[in-house]
Amino acid sequence: MSNMFKPYIIFYVIKFKLQRLRFTRTTLLKWQHKKLAQFAKKHLIKSPYYQNYIGVKPFNINEIPIIDKLAFMEHMSQINTLNINSQQAMQEALDAELTRNFKNKKHGITFGLSTGTTGKRGLFMLSTKERAQWVALVLLRVIKPIWFKKQHIAFFLRANSALYSSVNSFLFQFHYFDIFKPIDTLLPQLQKLQPNILAAQPSVLIEICKAQKHKLINIKPTQIISFAEVLTPELKQGLIQTFKVPVKEVYQCTEGFLGVTCTHGTMHLNEDIIYIEKEWVNTEHTMFMPIVTDFTRSTQPIVRYRLNDVLEINSLPCPCGLPFTSIKQIIGRSDDVLHINNRTLNPDIISRAIALQTDAFIAYTITQRGKHKLIVTIDAPSNIFPKLCSVIQITLQQLIQIHCQTNTIDIEFVADKVVQMGEKWRTVKRIVYEN
Ligand SMILES: [Zn+2]
Repeated sequence: MSNMFKPYIIFYVIKFKLQRLRFTRTTLLKWQHKKLAQFAKKHLIKSPYYQNYIGVKPFNINEIPIIDKLAFMEHMSQINTLNINSQQAMQEALDAELTRNFKNKKHGITFGLSTGTTGKRGLFMLSTKERAQWVALVLLRVIKPIWFKKQHIAFFLRANSALYSSVNSFLFQFHYFDIFKPIDTLLPQLQKLQPNILAAQPSVLIEICKAQKHKLINIKPTQIISFAEVLTPELKQGLIQTFKVPVKEVYQCTEGFLGVTCTHGTMHLNEDIIYIEKEWVNTEHTMFMPIVTDFTRSTQPIVRYRLNDVLEINSLPCPCGLPFTSIKQIIGRSDDVLHINNRTLNPDIISRAIALQTDAFIAYTITQRGKHKLIVTIDAPSNIFPKLCSVIQITLQQLIQIHCQTNTIDIEFVADKVVQMGEKWRTVKRIVYEN
């Protein structure tokens, strides 16, 4: 580890704190454009993929093509500014994952794998400075340090990485829980650890919440952090009721640390490191797909990267006063939306409608398997399964009639466990049509 790592962290903590004080919405937008131009001149110019767009003319971000995950992965060797061969880097990251040895680092660059939101493999490359910056933001916005007391963090992850171990210090100790192991084997470890902070994806938090309710474990975290998947309002409430502590939601993916909830529970985008363009998906301009440019990532530039998420904007100002865009909710991946009769039905609408009718299930998923075919998998005690099926069937038929204006829908019910450990949990998913 570079001996500059800790000084960098302190530097960034101070920088982010001071910088934030001067932002109003207007000054923020102006400052972002200045940052983008500096970023292009200093870093993008070193990227073989982007340097042709940086000319003598003043920098205009709109001249750079929008990129998606596939194109990004394909051109990764040309995109990075250090001439790193992405196939080699990917191989190293894969080896680390297979051997579960995550101390890989070369030339001060940390490589890591992530499946991101599409389930496809992603690769990130971070320099020491970039890691320090990430840690600084985590310390400022996610985990509250308690001075003079070491806090133990139970961190449920698909893969450990040098990135996450970066936060280990005299204030924090990370304990990595491998989510590919069955939850039953992880619960006793969790009980033994008695973590101060519990950090996991919602599908794992559900299991831990259930275990605590059924008295299989008794842990008393002072903070819960949810990341990697959409946290439904129902699960958030369930966690708050069970553990009686605040739940912090982190919006982070391979493409960067995009947002986090403030003390008022509002999700704010981290607009002091990223510039977000909004591709509206509805005519009311309340929902958009974000196009992300991170003007602080110099090793592996993220420029006009279109994410598959749909975000619903919160038009009311947040009482915390932060001028960063606030998000009512992350609705989910665009491929989570059902498409029926040339119309769409959002997962949040479905989950809310069902929640209003019943909460007797443990979990469920709805998968679209054709133009007019849905498969609903329900994890619930067998004695209430038939009742649940009929309630969900009626709710879905009503929603489809209202939102998609058709009665033609074939719904099949399956009784099964829906959450596979290690798999991302989605309430609604659409599989490529099998016509
Ligand atoms: Zn706020």
